[in-house]
Amino acid sequence: MSIITTVMGDRLLEGHVHPVYHGRWRDESGSSSLHRSGPVDYTDRMTEQPRFLADAMLARLARWLRVLNFDTRHDPSIHDPELVQMADREDRWLLTRDRALVKELRPSKAVLITRDDPLRQLTEVVEQCELDKPERLFLRCLVCNTPLREATDREIRDRLPPSAENYPDTRLYCPHCQRLYWPGSHTQRMTRTLARALPDWFDR
Ligand SMILES: [Zn+2]
Repeated sequence: MSIITTVMGDRLLEGHVHPVYHGRWRDESGSSSLHRSGPVDYTDRMTEQPRFLADAMLARLARWLRVLNFDTRHDPSIHDPELVQMADREDRWLLTRDRALVKELRPSKAVLITRDDPLRQLTEVVEQCELDKPERLFLRCLVCNTPLREATDREIRDRLPPSAENYPDTRLYCPHCQRLYWPGSHTQRMTRTLARALPDWFDR
């Protein structure tokens, strides 16, 4: 779990740039058959996918859903009645650990999360909302939920550390919070973690 804590918590909360992998998982042997290349459609059917609103307790679940490209809002400052109104207004699944909230405020669509571990929470959402595996991963900012776009040469020059220059794939950029994302070892580890949590979704 230390990897998840480091990648999904500390690094992101500290605001570091964070590597991203937007192809399919490449296995340990580097098999090219598992690696997608070529032009990326950054919208990638996002608008057809279910959308979510995670309550204050579910920050890490929200990040995992963003890894999977699901539009997932998370704002711990929003109080319960507004949370429910927002979910209904924006046709989002409300993800909450608060049984009383679901019972008393009766959101139109809600998943009552019962597990403590974020990846187990993720499997709860996948099963209850009958989610399909996204075609690509890491196309959405993990911090602010904004869809990423391809980075310009200047954005890469200004933000890419020398240690990441050997990764040849496209660098992506969040136009909202100005973070640069690139594929690397962290994203491969995160993808392997996802593959363990959702084995039916990944090549074995
Ligand atoms: Zn962002």
